[in-house]
Amino acid sequence: MKIISLDTVCLSRMHEPERQWITASYRTVKADCAIVRIQTDEGLVGIGEASAYGVPPRIAEWVDWLAPTLIGKDATDKATPPHPNGKDRAHDAAVAGIDCALWDLRGKAAGKRVSELLSDSPASSVPMYASSGCRYDWRDRPAQLIEEALGYVEQGFPVMKFRIGTQWEWDGVTVDRFLGLVRELHQAVAGRMNLALDGNCRLTLEEALPIAKELDRLEFAWLEEPIPWSDIDGYAALAAAVDMPVTGGESFTTLEQFRPYIEKRAYDIVQPDAGVCGLTELVRIAELAAYHGLKLYPHSWHNGLMAMAHAHAVAALPNLEILEVCQIQGPLQWDIAVEPPAMNSGHLHLPDSPGLGIELAEGVAERYPYIEGHYALTVER
Ligand SMILES: [Mg+2]
Repeated sequence: MKIISLDTVCLSRMHEPERQWITASYRTVKADCAIVRIQTDEGLVGIGEASAYGVPPRIAEWVDWLAPTLIGKDATDKATPPHPNGKDRAHDAAVAGIDCALWDLRGKAAGKRVSELLSDSPASSVPMYASSGCRYDWRDRPAQLIEEALGYVEQGFPVMKFRIGTQWEWDGVTVDRFLGLVRELHQAVAGRMNLALDGNCRLTLEEALPIAKELDRLEFAWLEEPIPWSDIDGYAALAAAVDMPVTGGESFTTLEQFRPYIEKRAYDIVQPDAGVCGLTELVRIAELAAYHGLKLYPHSWHNGLMAMAHAHAVAALPNLEILEVCQIQGPLQWDIAVEPPAMNSGHLHLPDSPGLGIELAEGVAERYPYIEGHYALTVER
């Protein structure tokens, strides 16, 4: 089955003003999506989502650049996908989209779900966690975080992951004030939903240590990227100081970037994203993590096709347990699909269809044409 063409479908949707979200010092004004589409000489079409943080038009340029090296090759040959280089995010996102589209094609050609290509006995559904808690403003109603969390309890999510809110310097937020809100949140959901915190690499080690200890006492599910990612010794110190898992690695695109963090036990759980590293590399990272006794919780932001790539990996691989699903992407997230997968009681059910299990909806490019410009504006206060 030979590849005859590749293209990239770039999509956007402006958020309504009330759905814009602000965290750190940026306000997110639109949702973006980049889907790589591969046509074959047998009429089968594979699709794979690339992380829109690679910037859709730049991803499209890289796909066009890579296309001549792929056209004419066998889509089912495992040697066909290009490799991420760990240097250029747009390049690696393009590679990732191509890689996921080739997995979709391999499944379709074999009449199997991608999870069945990865395992002899994959699960048919996977637990998912609500990824959000990005919208609370320390100046205006930080309690919004608790209201939002109670909504996820109602929907049956086993875990919610939240962030640390708007820029702390703007409003004199301290570790103590932050932990006060964390304790209120914990009390509001205790016994009904677990919690995880993503520091988005924004804390210092001095701030992160007392926070990690308190979250450990509150039995948080994990603490993600509390400090700058480059501080590998700081991560190792944090991971050694608490029983709760310390996690990270969402921006790494190659096994070699993960290797020192895995070998130094800087992370207890690694979080590669198939939208920037590809499913092939994610499987290799999962194998190295498993060899060192570590779990892998995929980083999965953006839209539904990426969630599906990760869902198949979670269903199939032994050291993957839970799927991240972004709760604030808006209608674009699942409108890309003819039929989204069933999701209820905190679980995503893998569709019966072969490949990744969803098809691109008719007319999606006309309904959600790509809107030029960055997805977020920097806010000054
Ligand atoms: Mg994160």
